Amino acid sequence: MAVQQNKVSKSRRNNRRAHDALVAANPNECVNCGELKRPHHVCASCGHYADREVVAMADEVDLDEDAA
Ligand SMILES: [Zn+2]
Repeated sequence: MAVQQNKVSKSRRNNRRAHDALVAANPNECVNCGELKRPHHVCASCGHYADREVVAMADEVDLDEDAA
């Protein structure tokens, strides 16, 4: 097992962790459906990107189809 040669001081440890904070997401509104979406990503709810549909969305998926 690798063992560190020198103790990492609280100051050095905390300085390293100073950049570890998570940043909040910055969602945009979809121009087609108005849902919040990630910037520069296809809208997850309608499949549009920049005013045109790039992913065809299934109308209705019945997950209980096999159960009946
Ligand atoms: Zn959308």
